[in-house]
Amino acid sequence: MRNGIETGPVHHSVRGLDVTVEVSPCSWMYPTYGLQLQFKLPSDCETGRPTAGCFEHLKKPWAEVTRADYDQLVKQTLSKLAANGLQTCASCGRITWNPALFDKPGKVARCETCFMWELEAELAREARAEAARVQREDRAMERDGFTHRVDAWVHPAMGDDRQVSWYVKGRPTPQQIADHLSSLGSEVLDDYTVETLSDATVG
Ligand SMILES: [Zn+2]
Repeated sequence: MRNGIETGPVHHSVRGLDVTVEVSPCSWMYPTYGLQLQFKLPSDCETGRPTAGCFEHLKKPWAEVTRADYDQLVKQTLSKLAANGLQTCASCGRITWNPALFDKPGKVARCETCFMWELEAELAREARAEAARVQREDRAMERDGFTHRVDAWVHPAMGDDRQVSWYVKGRPTPQQIADHLSSLGSEVLDDYTVETLSDATVG
């Protein structure tokens, strides 16, 4: 309880769904941040993961926030949720947020489980596509007489690390690789792997 406000979780019923409201700690941790409420849908029965919350924000210093402000923001948000805030997940039919109301306008409604599942499937597809691309390039370079591919990380003194790959004819020595990484501006000269093209094993 802060400022006479139950910081939560407090349960409400919206269209028969148990919706919980919590006051985000940033509301009082940063005095000028304002009142932020997080609304959560019931835990997903398959994953146990709480369905991601939507946030509502009242720009008013915490010291001035009253119970009446809290009550009003809760009431407003719950009626918004009841009117147009909930949709059925396009994949499984479970009730979830209407993305148009919150942070993902224009997207199809997906519950947390389906969203994560589809994200993982997409990442796996991308990884397979990337592996196929590297394999095609390996074949082409091998036809041109290259024997090894070096995959390395360039760690510059300033800025982000980046991944680089290059092909060589004949197994490269650690010194040759270090020289190349040095010429690319890397501070670290031994963060690499060498692939032999003919059998694609680490050499
Ligand atoms: Zn779903």
